[in-house]
Amino acid sequence: MVSFAFSSEQEDFRRELIRFARAELAPRYTQRAARAEFPWDAHQQLAELGVLGIGLPEEYGGTGVPDPVSLGIATEALAYGDCNVAAAPVQVGLVAAQLAHEGSKEVAGEYVPRLIAGEIVAAIAVTEPSAGSDASHLRCEARPVEDGWRLSGEKIAITHATTAAIGLVYARHPGSSGYRGISCFLVPLDAKGVTRGAMPGMGALPLGWGTLSFDEVFIPADHLVGEEGNAFSGVMHHFDFSRPALGLLCLGAAQASVDEAVAWAQQREAFGRPIAAFQGVSFPLAEHATYLEAARWLCYRALWMRETGQPHTDLAAMCKWWPPQIAKDAIETSWVTHGNLGYSTELPLQQRYRDVASYLVADGSAAIQKRIIATRMFGKVAAQ
Ligand SMILES: Cc1cc2nc3c(=O)[nH]c(=O)nc-3n(C[C@H](O)[C@H](O)[C@H](O)COP(=O)(O)OP(=O)(O)OC[C@H]3O[C@@H](n4cnc5c(N)ncnc54)[C@H](O)[C@@H]3O)c2cc1C
Repeated sequence: MVSFAFSSEQEDFRRELIRFARAELAPRYTQRAARAEFPWDAHQQLAELGVLGIGLPEEYGGTGVPDPVSLGIATEALAYGDCNVAAAPVQVGLVAAQLAHEGSKEVAGEYVPRLIAGEIVAAIAVTEPSAGSDASHLRCEARPVEDGWRLSGEKIAITHATTAAIGLVYARHPGSSGYRGISCFLVPLDAKGVTRGAMPGMGALPLGWGTLSFDEVFIPADHLVGEEGNAFSGVMHHFDFSRPALGLLCLGAAQASVDEAVAWAQQREAFGRPIAAFQGVSFPLAEHATYLEAARWLCYRALWMRETGQPHTDLAAMCKWWPPQIAKDAIETSWVTHGNLGYSTELPLQQRYRDVASYLVADGSAAIQKRIIATRMFGKVAAQ
């Protein structure tokens, strides 16, 4: 064991982003969160801070060296102020990394710099009305035609469906089944035959959740991303990165909530003393502080394993079931600590509770993450 510390550059970066999250993001978090509008102003600020290019190739405006730990630091720090805005580095990192490393030069050159500059956002479209947890049974079809493919099918529950300029759409070769035959395509979402629909949820409204329909959409040959028919394992490998980052997003929002509860408990009085003096108030917060600390290091360890090229699929799955769950619980205790005010829309706690709840399902539910971990522990016998 050498150290649990971040490098001095990472520590400076973290402090800068925490300052930004508190001063710039937090004051308007609930205002932004109440509207189903993408927060372009805040997104542009992230681009200026260099947050959207972490680990992406320098030729497109990124920082160059793959750096999942710094991306996790950014996501956690930003989520302290606004957990919806904080999703940006994860989403850009996911899409732009695939485009930069597996897309054609033309397509990567056209879109990756614009993603890093915060000019556009991108969607990732895997889930369908009849295939969510069991994504390998997706039905969306890409029929080979001269110079490309024709894409038809429905996608549901897609982040940025209403806002994205482009989507990475997963579709299968006609006649294929299961994991085999699935390819990934870059689809400009203004293409002929694409229809978008809004699907507002109980939180995360600015993320433009919705449906995408494709009716014989032409996909040029150079818009294939990765190997034809072999995209499924690729997307799962990318989720191994997004899962710890999203875990940290939830933890950043939970830490803000616990800090607010700690401050409130010292000023609010009941029975002639600050409520912090009651162990019924202070002990649950002490327990949440313990869980948050443990979960943070689980997530950073998973990102460090990725950075150092070590297998981390099971750790990534742990980061996607446990941190969102304990973050939601910590936010719940924090709003209850505030009494009636905690439930009111005057405070951000109820909003964080609903926003963080999205990660109980997005990117795979807890049951599916446990299935991944159990399969690694017991083999295929656990994959029921
Ligand atoms: C806010 C949000 C954002 C999202 N963004 C995107 C996006 O950008 N792109 C995208 O492609 N998708 C996105 N999704 C979709 C998400 O990935 C799916 O909702 C998720 O994978 C679950 O699929 P499902 O909704 O079809 O549920 P189902 O697969 O129908 O599952 C229903 C329930 O059954 C349980 N279940 C299913 N199989 C098993 C099993 N074998 N063992 C135990 N329990 C099981 C699940 O845990 C779940 O509780 C998003 C979802 C949300 C909520």
